[in-house]
Amino acid sequence: MLGGCTKVVKREEARNSSAMTSLVNEQLRDLLARIRGIAFDMDGVLYRGDQPLPGAAELVASLSARGIPFVMVTNNATKTPEEYAEKLARLGMEVPADRIVTSAIATRDWMRQQYPAGTRVYVLGMAALERAIYADGWFVPAGREAEVVVNGADFTLTYEKLKIATLAIRRGAEWIATNADRTFPSEEGLIPGAGAIVAALQAATDRTPIVIGKPEPAMLFRAAELLGIEPREMLMIGDRLDTDVLAGRRAGALTALVLTGVSTRDDLERSSVQPDMVVADLRVVLEALWSCAQ
Ligand SMILES: [Mg+2]
Repeated sequence: MLGGCTKVVKREEARNSSAMTSLVNEQLRDLLARIRGIAFDMDGVLYRGDQPLPGAAELVASLSARGIPFVMVTNNATKTPEEYAEKLARLGMEVPADRIVTSAIATRDWMRQQYPAGTRVYVLGMAALERAIYADGWFVPAGREAEVVVNGADFTLTYEKLKIATLAIRRGAEWIATNADRTFPSEEGLIPGAGAIVAALQAATDRTPIVIGKPEPAMLFRAAELLGIEPREMLMIGDRLDTDVLAGRRAGALTALVLTGVSTRDDLERSSVQPDMVVADLRVVLEALWSCAQ
């Protein structure tokens, strides 16, 4: 789809004043020439808190205008895809809700392939996760007699909820975690994430859950499926080496690290997980895309 890209490299090189920019663009255009769709992480890539990041809105608009398919993939399961679509719209990005894969949605989709209708499920998580799991009636709400326990982050966690999940898991229920992020970035600082609740349940049950969110590859397989392409034809753009880039590599996708979020150049030098490409921000991707289409 982006195959016209490599042909323009030499012509563009002559115009570039900075050799460094030229090199980055050349690598990036080569990468773009090999892909048919893009998966974006959101936090630290498209926005930080309530601030859109440089180039994000323009890139989303540009991809839409050119008919280049993309999806958003986030471990965060505290909001529904509709709520994320509203947030993105406020920040100037028009993205349909069905193009936003949260770890709750990916967990539901994965479970639908594993368990028959009527399976009794206990959800230890927030309203968005409960809605994702129960909304279409395939799974039946249950307590300690559940056959499957699903846990995500839960800002209203109680001892009672941990007790029900523990009793169900100890009785033999399968255990799925939306993600294993131990902390969660908030305005107040890092607060306990889904992985902190996983740790509590591990202590109480001596069991280990199946994890759906990044760095496990399940969400990226789902993203490629939504894009109608093979994972190797997809570019994963994320701000974390230990989740986004690792998940991308495990899924067999191409990966780009954007330096507007968590991982830094220092992290990159120390890490065994290496992306195919590193960019300062999404403006670089936007420029490469423009030059591709000329
Ligand atoms: Mg992120």
